[in-house]
Amino acid sequence: MEVQQQDLGNALKQHFGFDQFKGNQEAIIRNVLDRQNTFVIMPTGGGKSLCYQLPALMMDGTAIVISPLIALMKNQVDSVRAYHSNDAVAHFLNSSLSKTESRKVKDDLMAGNTKLLYIAPETLTKEENIDFLRSIPISFVAVDEAHCISEWGHDFRPEYRRIREMVDMIRGGVPIVALTATATPKVQADIVKNLQLGDHKLFKASFNRSNLYYEIRPKGSKDQVIPQLVKLVKEHPDRSGIIYAQSRKSTEEIAQLLRVNGIKAAPYHAGLDAKTRAKVQDDFLMEEVDVICATIAFGMGIDKPDVRFVIHYDIPKSIENYYQETGRAGRDGREADCVAFFSYQDISKLEKFLRDKPVAEREMGGQLLDEVIAFTETSACRRKYLLHYFGEVFQEEDCHKMCDNCRHPKEKINVRDEMVQAVKMVEALGENYRIPALMDIIMGKQSKEILDFGLNESQYFGIGKEKDKAFWQSVIRNAVLNQYLKKDIEQYGVIKMGPNAQDLLNNAPAVEISINHDYEKELENAGDQATSKSAALDDLLLKQLRDLRKSFSKTHNVPPFVIFQDASLEDMATQYPISMDDMTMVSGVSKGKAQRYGRPFLELIKEYVEANDIDRPTDMVVKQVANKSKSKVAIISAVDRKVPFDDIAASNNMSMADLLQEMEMIVASGTKLNIDYYIDEEVDEYTKEDIYDYFMQAETDSVDEAFSELSEDDITMEEIQLVRIKFMSDMAN
Ligand code: ADP
Ligand code: MG
Ligand code: ZN
Repeated sequence: MEVQQQDLGNALKQHFGFDQFKGNQEAIIRNVLDRQNTFVIMPTGGGKSLCYQLPALMMDGTAIVISPLIALMKNQVDSVRAYHSNDAVAHFLNSSLSKTESRKVKDDLMAGNTKLLYIAPETLTKEENIDFLRSIPISFVAVDEAHCISEWGHDFRPEYRRIREMVDMIRGGVPIVALTATATPKVQADIVKNLQLGDHKLFKASFNRSNLYYEIRPKGSKDQVIPQLVKLVKEHPDRSGIIYAQSRKSTEEIAQLLRVNGIKAAPYHAGLDAKTRAKVQDDFLMEEVDVICATIAFGMGIDKPDVRFVIHYDIPKSIENYYQETGRAGRDGREADCVAFFSYQDISKLEKFLRDKPVAEREMGGQLLDEVIAFTETSACRRKYLLHYFGEVFQEEDCHKMCDNCRHPKEKINVRDEMVQAVKMVEALGENYRIPALMDIIMGKQSKEILDFGLNESQYFGIGKEKDKAFWQSVIRNAVLNQYLKKDIEQYGVIKMGPNAQDLLNNAPAVEISINHDYEKELENAGDQATSKSAALDDLLLKQLRDLRKSFSKTHNVPPFVIFQDASLEDMATQYPISMDDMTMVSGVSKGKAQRYGRPFLELIKEYVEANDIDRPTDMVVKQVANKSKSKVAIISAVDRKVPFDDIAASNNMSMADLLQEMEMIVASGTKLNIDYYIDEEVDEYTKEDIYDYFMQAETDSVDEAFSELSEDDITMEEIQLVRIKFMSDMAN
């Protein structure tokens, strides 16, 4: 079909209102119009739909669009209809339609009014539908999300494997357009083979997202990660971001933690009901919520252009997932940060999940995980590594320091001789082994596999003993990255000679690499630094804060401890809070309390910091969610409903002592708790007054001191505790 340049531009304008084609769209569309088999690989958001929508509108007959998700179908149909006077132009056929509705669809198709028919693969396989489709003219078949054909990666859909068979039944020789955002050579090969694309034209866009900064960090204990996480988020104040975690529980915990630290965060996972999920998505789009803490359930169809960071609290289980999820950052083309936390423990967890899977899936899952490990450990350019994984050649100079390894390069060493040895070994052993076996041979390890194959007899056995495992792993993986070797995914990841092997063997003068990250060591070093930097209590400031509290208590006519407790003052004298935000991070200080009493304290600290040139910690210690904070809300609401204390304790799984302690914490941080209903039952009027008066004039809020002062009056510890809770609650409000 000959279409002039101008005509195609006009058609674009007429049907979609766009002035220009994006990327390779025009060439792709021409190929489709020429009725050629077409394979489009383009990152998400690249504009794949238009590549089949526009030709479908221009060609005779109806284009069949196979798409896996009913929800996406509806969106697509709506977006095509938006530019047309007649809704009949696009329809979908799937299990969600009633009999009458599908009748209407078929009528429009018969009448030749419909240019695009979206159909789910399950619907396509139904005999009656096949029979029907045989009776109408078809322009071409588009297979969207074509990676669903492949088991490698994610989203595998078995019905996708039968598409070719169905298409042949409908009409032999009809052109096929396959589209996907998954670019690994393996998936690509699966699609071509299964759809029998034969002599097709491939259009592959680059997967480089030059505005994304990639960083991997070692993940220590919770206590180590959480402050980093909060700090990371705070480096992007009021900006949109996504934090991915593996489990529902972690998403909830992280969201709560961020909220405690003054960040507008919400969890998102498949365990929430549809309404809540829709609300969270809306709030995120409307910027009522800045940070979504999500499992991978989040992201499908989310198209917020200004997501400024994506953090992986847990490492994803494949590089495909990592790329997809980080890809949600920086759609607007402006800089965005992608930080992933990595630990071997998390990998073991993922491996455990695989254990119960069928053999084939386990095998593949293991390979995908190995790729993730290699990606995190590498000290080569992350971007180069990612793109290599997707079959693209990339020079690290073009990264422009937009990854941690390029920004903070490790020292490089020349490993030419060792790399030559490794490549020769691969050749000598018949290109038949995977990395773990090759490692065992080099290191001279008599593992079962080595002995079974008699590899301990090889001349290469133990040649690299004097170097360590990290060294050889770096050498082999870098050889793969630079295509001296290659990994054959079809054959379970066996290592073979790569396209550049001869260059290395014949004439490489030097091969400079840096040794992989050893995260365990890096973590230890970081830990040492942190403890040596840990802040010390400033006695001089503490004294001044105490004095301020004292004078303040006189003017307000409340005991000093009602204003701030000693622990809070000590925390201030360690952390030097200088903003209201900082103040709410101080232990025992709620937002309300910070606002009520905080101002003069902040001023004093600010002056003190300036006058003494104090190098205050750049980030305030992160506020932890109190262990029992779940019960906190429950306790407050139970007290509101005047529930007896025994029942509150029982339903929160606490002892009475725990309950009282928890209540003390609640009132100490400035929340009102009206427990009169319980005190009136448990403590007689006179005792109550005695205790209350005591605290009114006391220097400290110590219960023990109160007890020894009041002991003659036959007052119990519990009575003191109860009245003190009332006292603090009254005073704080
Ligand atoms: P993909 O399927 O590749 O993820 P879509 O087809 O959903 O991407 O397109 C992504 C966005 O780009 C859509 O909002 C679409 O309207 C827009 N788009 C596509 N082509 C063009 C174009 N030529 N000009 C402007 N916007 C376009
Ligand atoms: Mg799409
Ligand atoms: Zn880089």
